[in-house]
Amino acid sequence: MFQKILIANRGEIALRILRACKELGIRTVAVHSTADADAMHVRLADESVCIGPPASRDSYLNMHQIVAACEITGADAIHPGYGFLSENAKFADILAAHNITFIGPSGDHIRLMGDKIEAKRTAKRLGIPVVPGSDGAVSDEKEAKRIAAEIGYPVLIKASAGGGGRGMKVARSEDELFEALTTARTEAGAAFGDDAVYIEKYLEKPRHIEVQLMGDGMGQAIHLGERDCSLQRRHQKVWEEALSPALNADQRQKIGSIVANAMAELGYSGAGTVEFLYENGEFYFIEMNTRLQVEHPVTEAITGIDLVHEQIRVASGGGLSHTQSEIRFQGHAIECRINAEDPRTFVPSPGTITHFHTPGGLGIRVDSGVYSGYKIPPYYDSLIGKLIVHGRNRVECMMRLRRALDEFVVDGINTTLPLFRDLVGNVDIANGDYDIHWLEKFLAREA
Ligand code: ADP
Repeated sequence: MFQKILIANRGEIALRILRACKELGIRTVAVHSTADADAMHVRLADESVCIGPPASRDSYLNMHQIVAACEITGADAIHPGYGFLSENAKFADILAAHNITFIGPSGDHIRLMGDKIEAKRTAKRLGIPVVPGSDGAVSDEKEAKRIAAEIGYPVLIKASAGGGGRGMKVARSEDELFEALTTARTEAGAAFGDDAVYIEKYLEKPRHIEVQLMGDGMGQAIHLGERDCSLQRRHQKVWEEALSPALNADQRQKIGSIVANAMAELGYSGAGTVEFLYENGEFYFIEMNTRLQVEHPVTEAITGIDLVHEQIRVASGGGLSHTQSEIRFQGHAIECRINAEDPRTFVPSPGTITHFHTPGGLGIRVDSGVYSGYKIPPYYDSLIGKLIVHGRNRVECMMRLRRALDEFVVDGINTTLPLFRDLVGNVDIANGDYDIHWLEKFLAREA
């Protein structure tokens, strides 16, 4: 087992990882930018190292500074959290070259899944259902027209290097194809330095359903059920639940074992998520995330398994702590992402939190790195905390969520709490009856 882990992240996830390390008796090193000197994870870590100025590229993305911090403190492993360097294959390779364990999959697996065209090809080869579309990159309009005619309109042009919904354009007819292709290519080139794009059938009313998995890197892999993350704004998840209100036990078992078998065959190591769109009873692979996800706590709530413990265990060579038949799903869990943003316009709202009071009681978990008097720096994302509620069934979970939201107080800044108070009282949400466009339509109606 590791003696000391360096946490290469900030905010709630840095604290989340620190808690897991403490429980396992592993010493922790926090790294931080000058803007985060007062952060909770810095205060609670055994050691801390300032790695640079506020801008992420000079601090949380600065590989040399982070490796140096590791060598100075004698940390034997790095947990990257999510975002920042968590899906950077070069970082995983550099750590391997320095004999520091990267708590995550191999650089090669990160690279494979980071290229969406390669990821889709691999998924298909491993027996995972994919969205009909081009087999690889599309270079010219003629080819695009032929493929679009084959799969039928509407189609979606997507960037191979894509992320965060950028470089994606819908074409509803052949007339719109050229412009969609050109715009997607230009956007992708500007955002990712890679203008390769591919074509997919555009699904009109899908849900976003993703399967959590763990692999031991030696040919064993299990799945931990799914999460439904259909409530999104601009392709960003807002509310996530486990299990999905749309699946039955058979469907769950079927897609779960397809994913687990595929990851076993790949020899995948650590935590990962295979994301699907789900429409008319069919699953369509869209991408794989080779890291811990923001919404992992809903899976922890229904399985009782600490995913960060598992990641650390697998990375240290200890293998998986459960077989598939030992995984049981209990009750229902919902997560609300609380952002420091205006609840209507979503304009970021940095500043000082004058009062911060979190709800408590049975089935409530709050993962947050902020506190009363904390000044939110303007340099990073606006997530200030996650409220995760667990109940014996979805109805109990929703009732508990409603009262937890009533108890939650954040003064001094705007937050998205009022949005969740609206959602929890909505009849479609109560019925679990929503697709990936539901939230945008709801917000447009409210505006
Ligand atoms: P990114 O990596 O940019 O987040 P994804 O492939 O994960 O891109 O897709 C992000 C979101 O875009 C999905 O959650 C879904 O809302 C939408 N999307 C992606 N592919 C399709 C598709 N073929 N049809 C309809 N919507 C899609």
